[in-house]
Amino acid sequence: MAGLYLHIPFCKSKCAYCNFFSVVSEKQRADFLDALKREAVNRNHYLGDDEIKTIYFGGGTPSILTPSEIVDILNVLKQNYKIIDKLEVTLEANPDTVSKQSLSEYKSLGINRLSIGIQSFFDDDLQYLSRKHDSKHAMQVLDWAKQIDFQEVTIDLIYGIPTLTDEKWRKNLEYFFATGFNHLSAYALTIEEKTTLGQRINKGVAAPVSEEATIRHYEILTEMVKNQGFEHYEISNFARPGHYSKHNTIYWKGEKYLGLGPSAHSFDGVSRQWNVASVKDYCDNYSFEREELTLNDRYNEYVMTSLRTIWGCDLSYIQANFGDKYVKRFKNLTKKHILDEKMYQKDEFFILNDYGMLFADGIAAELFL
Ligand code: SF4
Repeated sequence: MAGLYLHIPFCKSKCAYCNFFSVVSEKQRADFLDALKREAVNRNHYLGDDEIKTIYFGGGTPSILTPSEIVDILNVLKQNYKIIDKLEVTLEANPDTVSKQSLSEYKSLGINRLSIGIQSFFDDDLQYLSRKHDSKHAMQVLDWAKQIDFQEVTIDLIYGIPTLTDEKWRKNLEYFFATGFNHLSAYALTIEEKTTLGQRINKGVAAPVSEEATIRHYEILTEMVKNQGFEHYEISNFARPGHYSKHNTIYWKGEKYLGLGPSAHSFDGVSRQWNVASVKDYCDNYSFEREELTLNDRYNEYVMTSLRTIWGCDLSYIQANFGDKYVKRFKNLTKKHILDEKMYQKDEFFILNDYGMLFADGIAAELFL
């Protein structure tokens, strides 16, 4: 089984830290919707006979689309793909673009998982990030989602923001726990040079991110979520048992997915493909790039993604898919991380603990071939 991702590139404004492909102008909205549906029809063989178990509207800001625009897209997908009955359909929503009415309509047309970009419940943090909403409206939207009784709701929070004290970070997590929702994505603020925030920090007009504060926030996070019965199932994702994101798990387990829309990536098991990152080119002159993955690429990707999860790296998978050379190297290089108590071995699985997750990227890079 496989997943479908749809990239909706429009945003009300560009957040200062954002490094995703998104545009503010909606001039080509109608053309984009036509092109997206066209791509969905034209690429319906990409996943072979695989059935679709998840649909994910990501962005950008998918909640800019009206319920009738979403239902049009869903109808095209239903007509062109084999879709299972127990489908997970996620819509990313930003508080500044939704109303109680629109949320209720999204639910009635089959969206059963809402991912809400809250980031912080404090206005000074939101201003630092230049988000469009304020904390009052964020609370209001969560309340609507509860009243409407969405099957699954997850929220995004960001830590390591220079205006976010330890106390405020604890409060952000407490506000989230009080909602009773079962899933949280919590990301460390990372500054990309080319973003507005990166440039502001370089010029000295915005406060820089402190690595020590980010690590403290991570430690507060991992402790508080565990006390609330959440599982730390991916480096930035936490869920009560049975509430993992099915769609994102496809990425983390190396399963197939088709990405539609500008800049969207696809994976068919042996190659990656990514669409042109321009709304104009996507609409007028669709193109993509493709990369065949070598054995080393596939091994590196497997190590990178699996080390970031609760399932860890499976030695028997490495043996079956890559062979002795890879197993030997993996076992040799992981010894010191086990001694350093960053990693543990459970049967054939090598798993990073909460402390080790702080070094996940560095450890994976050491293991690469
Ligand atoms: S809403 Fe999300 S995608 Fe849009 S600019 Fe902000 S961070 Fe980027």
